[in-house]
Amino acid sequence: LLKEHEGKVKVLAGGTDLLPSMKQRLFTPEYVLDLRQIPGLGEIEDNFQKGVRIGSLSTLAAIEESPVVKGRFPALAEAAGLVGATQLRNMGTIGGNIALETRCWYFNQSHSWRRSIERCIKLGGKVCHVVKRSKKQCYAYFAADTVPILVALNAEVTIKGNGKGRQCLLKDIYTQEGKNSNTLKPTEVISEVLVPLPDPGSGSSYKKLRIREAIDFPLVGAAVQVVMSGDICRDAKIVLGAVGSGPIEVTEAESVLRGNPITEELIEEVGKISQKAAKPMPNAVSTPEYRRKMAGLLTKQALREAVNRANILE
Ligand SMILES: Cc1cc2nc3c(=O)[nH]c(=O)nc-3n(C[C@H](O)[C@H](O)[C@H](O)COP(=O)(O)OP(=O)(O)OC[C@H]3O[C@@H](n4cnc5c(N)ncnc54)[C@H](O)[C@@H]3O)c2cc1C
Repeated sequence: LLKEHEGKVKVLAGGTDLLPSMKQRLFTPEYVLDLRQIPGLGEIEDNFQKGVRIGSLSTLAAIEESPVVKGRFPALAEAAGLVGATQLRNMGTIGGNIALETRCWYFNQSHSWRRSIERCIKLGGKVCHVVKRSKKQCYAYFAADTVPILVALNAEVTIKGNGKGRQCLLKDIYTQEGKNSNTLKPTEVISEVLVPLPDPGSGSSYKKLRIREAIDFPLVGAAVQVVMSGDICRDAKIVLGAVGSGPIEVTEAESVLRGNPITEELIEEVGKISQKAAKPMPNAVSTPEYRRKMAGLLTKQALREAVNRANILE
C-alpha cells in the first residue's frame, strides 16, 4: 500500500503526534495507513543472548511498565515514562517516538497563525524564521525522549518496506537536518528496536528539562551510559536531545571519561564540554542560552546517576 500510494500516504501508529499535526494542516496526506492492523509489532521480548527486542508498536506505557525493560534498562523505562502525559503514553509508540517530526516555534502553530508569516523551509517555502540567513537548512529541533537513551545504549532498528528489510544503528538514521530529520523512505516503516545487553558494570540515566512536568516536550534531554570497573570509567556514551535537529553524541566528553576515575572535577569538565556541544536555536519557548546551560547541568546529573547505578549493580 505504501508503494502504491507513495508520496500520498502517512503512516499512523499511536497518532499522538500525527493527528494533531494533521489538524493543524502541517500534513495533509490523501491516505493514512494504520500500522496497528499489523499483528506482532507490539511485543517486548527478552532475548537473553542479544538483548531486548521492542516491537515498534509497543506503547510508551508498556515500555515504562515492562519488567524486562525496567530490569535491564531502567533509564529507558524512565525516559518512556517522561513522555508527555499518561494518555499520550497509553497511545504513543516507540516507533512513532523514533520517527517523530522535528518541532519549531514557527512550525507547530495553527493554520491561521502560520498564514500570517511567510511559508518556512520545513513547509516547502524558502525562508527559515529561526536562522534568517539560512538558504536551505531547516533548524527545527528533534524532541523525542526515548531516542537519546536508545542511542546511548547502542540500539539498532529494523526497517522494512517494499519487500525488503534493513538493520542499522539507530543513530545512523538521523540526518541532523530539521526538514527531513531521518533517512526513512516513504515506503519504509520501523518494525522493531533491539537494545543490546550492556557490558557488566554498566549504568545509565536520562534527565529532561521541560516547562510543565505533567505534559511538555523536552527542551533539553541528556542521556548517559557508563561502563565502570571500580572507580575507573571503562566506556561512556553521552547523548543530548532537543538541542539540535537530531540526537547529538558528545564524543569529546566520552573520550575525556574513558580510562579515568570519576571525580567531581571530571564531572564538571564533562558538563562544560556537553554545554558547548549543545546547539539550541531560538525555536522553542526558552532561550538558547538557558537550554545550553541546562544541557551541561543535566549531563552532570545524568552522569552522577549513571555512575551510582553502575556501582550498585557491580
Ligand atoms: C501535548 C503533547 C505532548 C507531548 N510530549 C512529548 C514528550 O514529552 N516527549 C516526546 O518524546 N514526545 C511527546 N509528544 C509526542 C508524541 O506523543 C510521542 O512522541 C509519541 O511517542 C509518538 O508516537 P505515536 O505512536 O503516537 O506516533 P504517531 O503520531 O502515530 O506518528 C508520529 C510520526 O512517526 C511516523 N511513524 C509512526 N510509527 C512509525 C513506524 N513504525 N515507522 C515509521 N514511521 C512511523 C508517523 O508517520 C509520524 O510521522 C507529545 C505530543 C503531544 C500532543
